[in-house]
Amino acid sequence: MAGLYWKPIEGLQVAMDGPSGSGKGTVARLVGEELGLPVLDTGLLYRFAGWQTAETDVDMMDEQTVLQVLQAVLPKMDWRAEGIFFESKDCTSLLRGEDVGSLASQVAHYPKVRGLLLDVQRDIALSGCVMDGRDIGTVVLPDAQAKFFLTASQRERARRRWAQLHVKDKELSIEQVADELMARDERDAGRDCAPLERAKEAIQIDSTIMRVDEVVDRILAVLERRDLIYAV
Ligand code: C5P
Repeated sequence: MAGLYWKPIEGLQVAMDGPSGSGKGTVARLVGEELGLPVLDTGLLYRFAGWQTAETDVDMMDEQTVLQVLQAVLPKMDWRAEGIFFESKDCTSLLRGEDVGSLASQVAHYPKVRGLLLDVQRDIALSGCVMDGRDIGTVVLPDAQAKFFLTASQRERARRRWAQLHVKDKELSIEQVADELMARDERDAGRDCAPLERAKEAIQIDSTIMRVDEVVDRILAVLERRDLIYAV
């Protein structure tokens, strides 16, 4: 699809779900760039929630306490396509590590926490976006005009995460990343509230042996076929 300029229909919402390392973040960013739509990474929001709870040093096992921490900090947070700002400072890079990913999934199973973050996500998506996460097609944007579910083999997902994180932490082994990823996926897929799940109408794409541009092209082709985007 190179060389074409695309325009989305008014208010187009594209939901992109999948496990860690499935490539959904990179693909969402590129699809958003092609279409001129904001790209909203909901993982960052959960990472912020996990990080703030840990920083406040409260009992993470107590849902009500976690909720109170978040009610206090969310008004000081600004979530944009560029990242997360807290008290006007960009804290996005602090949130990217696997340690914060694990904190995120520890608070993400609380229904009240998810309820609080649900409103934040729905508000920001109103005027159209590409939104990526675990429950976007099933819970956050059930009426999204297009839904995709990205997967890749466990080994490939661990390799991708490792390649990202190894730049900062040379000691990190691929086995360590694979173990943490698996534990997180199990928690995300096994929780009762809004688990990682494919919406029944979502198109599944296994990207294990695909290049990123091939995945993006497939998504754009689906959107064009459904008259959700048009070439200008
Ligand atoms: O996508 P990312 O790896 O940044 O997400 C971090 C964690 O946040 C996930 O492992 C999951 O527990 C939680 N999350 C979620 N629902 C979303 C996005 C992320 O539960 N929509």
